[in-house]
Amino acid sequence: MNDYEVVVAGAGPVGTVAALILARAGIKVLLLESGAACATDLRASTFHPPTLEIMKALGLSDALHAQGLVAPVYRYHNRRTGAVIGFDLSELADITDYPYRLQCEQWKLTNLATGRLLEHRGADLKFSRRVAGFAQDDDGVTIHIETPTDTQTVRADYLLGCDGSNSIIRKGLAVEFEGFTYGEKFLCLSTAMPVEAYLDNICYVNYMADPEEWLVLLRAPTAWRVLVPAAEAEPDDVLLADPKKDRVFAGLLGSNTPVETLHRTIYRVHQRVARQYRFGRVILAGDAAHLNNPLGGMGMNAGIHDVWNLCPKLVEILRNGADDGLIDLYDRQRRTVMGEFIQAQTIRNKRAMEMAADEATSRAEAELAETARDPALRREYLLRQSMYRSLEREAEIH
Ligand SMILES: Cc1cc2nc3c(=O)[nH]c(=O)nc-3n(C[C@H](O)[C@H](O)[C@H](O)COP(=O)(O)OP(=O)(O)OC[C@H]3O[C@@H](n4cnc5c(N)ncnc54)[C@H](O)[C@@H]3O)c2cc1C
Repeated sequence: MNDYEVVVAGAGPVGTVAALILARAGIKVLLLESGAACATDLRASTFHPPTLEIMKALGLSDALHAQGLVAPVYRYHNRRTGAVIGFDLSELADITDYPYRLQCEQWKLTNLATGRLLEHRGADLKFSRRVAGFAQDDDGVTIHIETPTDTQTVRADYLLGCDGSNSIIRKGLAVEFEGFTYGEKFLCLSTAMPVEAYLDNICYVNYMADPEEWLVLLRAPTAWRVLVPAAEAEPDDVLLADPKKDRVFAGLLGSNTPVETLHRTIYRVHQRVARQYRFGRVILAGDAAHLNNPLGGMGMNAGIHDVWNLCPKLVEILRNGADDGLIDLYDRQRRTVMGEFIQAQTIRNKRAMEMAADEATSRAEAELAETARDPALRREYLLRQSMYRSLEREAEIH
């Protein structure tokens, strides 16, 4: 018998949710995190309605809502013309109890989920444990772990690689990570300044299109967050310095009001999907399996949808003797949806931000305005952006 039924590598939002789903079903699970605690960096801050339904099923919804902001409305602004087009998720109230985005930092989920995980007998969480390698055979997977002082091994029936974009597990599998990396960098700034006092027509989620410098302005409970593209050739220290920050905020606020930032971070952004998610007893999920740009807030949500699909299948296999071909079904369902829907939608969302100030702009903007006006088009749009359509597509795949 192996030490654990499942070992999960990585206590990000995807790994912690995976471990919690398994623990709630009585699976003996070990969650390993290389950091000394869950990361608290400011990345995902948008939870879409179907993900909130998953949070409810896991008993996390109330605690998450208590720490988040309800955002039913989001708006597209044309930075050149000042045109504004709005969408309101309240229109989906007939299909969900959560017809809005919840703006809440992803670290609040990881903290909550790890706390709940430890309430389950048979669940274990170890920090400062880096998965360094693995080897599988017919009976299980041997996982090699580095601690601050030594190396260890554990055995598990299955290993889940939820170890993020630089996944050691994906690299160990030597699977192709197909796609591309954007030429530009993304600069993310956050501030506690009341930006809303300086701008008209803004809500918690604002996409501001511009051919030269599009801008995303999002409210998270602890700060306003601003995301802009930045030239690849510009050195990081220049992008992180005050003059760049001052230029971004002057462009946003239309004045030289001094703005103090809480965070300044630069990201490289990719559109990539692993060619396969399942390799015998080793399975990829979340950023380890796929990456996309953050426009539309879909990366973390898609990763949580991965493990919401996968983990009940693992429970069926481990508890009820189901055929482990079920894991191939996970692979087919989630990879198809990732390619057809999430990659396609996020690439489209980024293009919409870069609309050129020409005839094409007016056409794209006119189409968006028509979508917002027409009830049937608007509903379809809301169902896609809130990710319901991706889950419907997943259910069609057998
Ligand atoms: C600026 C920005 C904004 C974003 N906004 C959104 C948003 O609003 N909505 C959304 O859905 N997504 C968003 N995303 C994407 C989202 O942050 C990621 O998709 C999400 O963090 C993926 O979760 P994960 O658990 O797969 O990986 P991670 O969050 O990267 O977690 C992986 C964990 O594994 C650990 N780890 C790594 N290697 C090992 C190892 N060898 N052994 C053990 N542990 C290991 C890491 O320390 C980390 O804790 C955004 C991304 C960026 C950059």
